[in-house]
Amino acid sequence: MNIVLLGAPGAGKGTQADKLIEEFGIAHISTGDILRAAVKAGTPLGLEAKKYMDAGDLVPDSVVIGLVKDRLQEPDAQKGFILDGFPRTTVQAVALDGALSDMGREIDAAVAIDVDFEVIVKRLTSRRMCRSCGHIGNVADASCPKCGGEMYQRDDDNEATVRNRLDVYEKSTAPLIDYYKGKNLLKEIDGDRAPEDVYASVKEALGV
Ligand code: AMP
Repeated sequence: MNIVLLGAPGAGKGTQADKLIEEFGIAHISTGDILRAAVKAGTPLGLEAKKYMDAGDLVPDSVVIGLVKDRLQEPDAQKGFILDGFPRTTVQAVALDGALSDMGREIDAAVAIDVDFEVIVKRLTSRRMCRSCGHIGNVADASCPKCGGEMYQRDDDNEATVRNRLDVYEKSTAPLIDYYKGKNLLKEIDGDRAPEDVYASVKEALGV
């Protein structure tokens, strides 16, 4: 199962990806997570990426395409993968198709999770993440409900940055909906529902 998860930041891609990897044991490839790990580790890549991320802008295509190409070669990605937060531009989508075709593989489905932007602004500004395990919770969680770790607000989850991320999404990423529709791979899901209900629709759309 090789899946691309599309949707604005805060649409619930990470939550749905977590459920799919738990049930199907495929690799979760989140470019946002990879970049945040590089920022935390203070690597040259992390230092370069941080300025774009803090502003809510996209990290240059060449950087993220390289990261994903490397990640797709790793052993756990051979059984299948969920790409979460990649591709975000048409250049990235075309590069992904090329990299997969070189590997004799292809995308099986692009799942687009649709949520109204004002709902997203509310969701993201109250979102909190666990520093230890990456669990996604909200402002009501004093500590991580999964592992007891410290919950924090991502630097890019303040309202001004969230609105910029949504503008960037509309301009650069939303055109990918048509890109995958044109390839007959698109499955559109209403994401403004409880995560379990969204997940049931995702599975139905994937036929699993
Ligand atoms: P996310 O966790 O997917 O919301 O990503 C957080 C931030 O990382 C984004 O706002 C971008 O700055 C950067 N980022 C993540 N994935 C990509 C990508 N595919 N292309 C460019 N920048 C990305």
